[in-house]
Amino acid sequence: MKYILITQNMPSPMVYSLHMAKVKRTPLVIGNWKMHPATLEAAKRLGKDVVTKALKARGTASCDIGIAVPTLYFDEIGKITKGKPIMLGAQNAAAGAVGAETGEVSAGMLAERRAAFVIVGHSERRARGEDNAQVTARAAGVLAAKMIPVVCIGEQSRDAEGDFYHIVHEQLDAVFANLGGTAATRVVVAYEPVWAIGTGLTPTAEDVSTMRLAIKKYLHEKYGDAVANKVRVLYGGSVTEENALEFMQNGMIDGFLVGGASLEAVRFAVIIKACIA
Ligand code: PEP
Repeated sequence: MKYILITQNMPSPMVYSLHMAKVKRTPLVIGNWKMHPATLEAAKRLGKDVVTKALKARGTASCDIGIAVPTLYFDEIGKITKGKPIMLGAQNAAAGAVGAETGEVSAGMLAERRAAFVIVGHSERRARGEDNAQVTARAAGVLAAKMIPVVCIGEQSRDAEGDFYHIVHEQLDAVFANLGGTAATRVVVAYEPVWAIGTGLTPTAEDVSTMRLAIKKYLHEKYGDAVANKVRVLYGGSVTEENALEFMQNGMIDGFLVGGASLEAVRFAVIIKACIA
């Protein structure tokens, strides 16, 4: 019922889907290493392996690739990615430039270390108390530092009434409410249902495409076609080499935010292949 409220009032979902499908966006695959691996030496080994295999998998196809590594590994992994078409990213950034914020790292500091993107609002951060206002401020800090914010949104659980669409809508609206169209096109939205992260559970491709449609509808209504068409919507949550192709083909998404499978270069490479298939 509530889901219908979200998908009505626009070119009908089907027409809208077809319209959006005509617009070709470059896929984006991001590996989120989280707090892995345990040592710098292991990180360098993984970095080399990921760069070699990811670039081989991509070949000459058009696909953006990023790895979000622990901040302390930035410089060494940066040496491995230097000059290669693989973006280095961080997993969070403070909203301000400097301040009495023990344990935080600012977007400006990350940009200075050559970060190209920053994940904000990951559910593992939200679980530690980050709310929509903080996520929005962090995303604004990332934009101000001229990087790409990869904004994670997603429900804790699903209910038959479709209330979860409203949770996702609120998370989305918090970030975009005060953002102009040009800045909005630089945001990447990662739809990550919390119940699917690291659990082996996944929504169906149809569930993902319907959520993507709701996200696109929001952007379409707020900014119009041109901006809505440019914003990439990724899916994250137990993406594997087995399910990636199905999500790409039937989930209508623009790529993935990958956790566990990004720690194995071979698996990450197969997921990249699925994005360009
Ligand atoms: C994530 O943490 O963003 C994630 C999607 O993890 P996993 O792929 O392991 O579910």
